[in-house]
Amino acid sequence: MRFLTLIFGTVGSGKTAELLKIISKIQEHNSRSHANGKLKFKVFKPEMETRSESEIIASRNGQTFKEATPVKTVRDLSRQLVENPDIVIIDECQFFETGPGNSPRAFTALVSELLVTDKKVIICGLIQNCYGGKFEILSSLCPLADEIINPHTTCACGQVASRSQRLQIGYPTPLSDPIFVVDNSANHDLGYSYEPRCNDCFELPEQAHPNLLLFRKAIGQIKE
Ligand SMILES: [Zn+2]
Repeated sequence: MRFLTLIFGTVGSGKTAELLKIISKIQEHNSRSHANGKLKFKVFKPEMETRSESEIIASRNGQTFKEATPVKTVRDLSRQLVENPDIVIIDECQFFETGPGNSPRAFTALVSELLVTDKKVIICGLIQNCYGGKFEILSSLCPLADEIINPHTTCACGQVASRSQRLQIGYPTPLSDPIFVVDNSANHDLGYSYEPRCNDCFELPEQAHPNLLLFRKAIGQIKE
């Protein structure tokens, strides 16, 4: 039976933990089913998401799934579906909106095709970018969803966090910065980090803080 599950939340909200919970339920089902009753599933993640090693999906609380298939584009993902899994699971879907071979339309078309052929599809990622705007993939799939899982964490002030703030050396990045800055070690070296924030604490600066400007000049990220 077709069934579309969407999992989204801010950075640090526990959405990856929710995804891993679903995967472990499928594994548990398979471990106690005989051959005919087993569910074939396949897990994908974008190759540019490099918070963890390429085949590993890791939550911040230390749980992992080690057999994800890294794919660069929507077409690569589609090619990998020849094994005809019953359940297709895709993590960090927002990265399929950007780069050559990717677009929200190509991604959502693939999801629609899978649903028409009675697959279960589980998609996890961000619905909102670090400037409070929407990511297209999850925004446009919401009306098709059979189930939405939307975990929350708290802001440092104690209120519910519903925004993902991007920081560089502790200062919010300005609106003129690109939306996509991958959460990987090279960018951690440039001082980037993400923080869950509530509506009161979320900041949208037009310009970089003077200290951030000095830092960017010092490391050559911007010219004098
Ligand atoms: Zn707050």
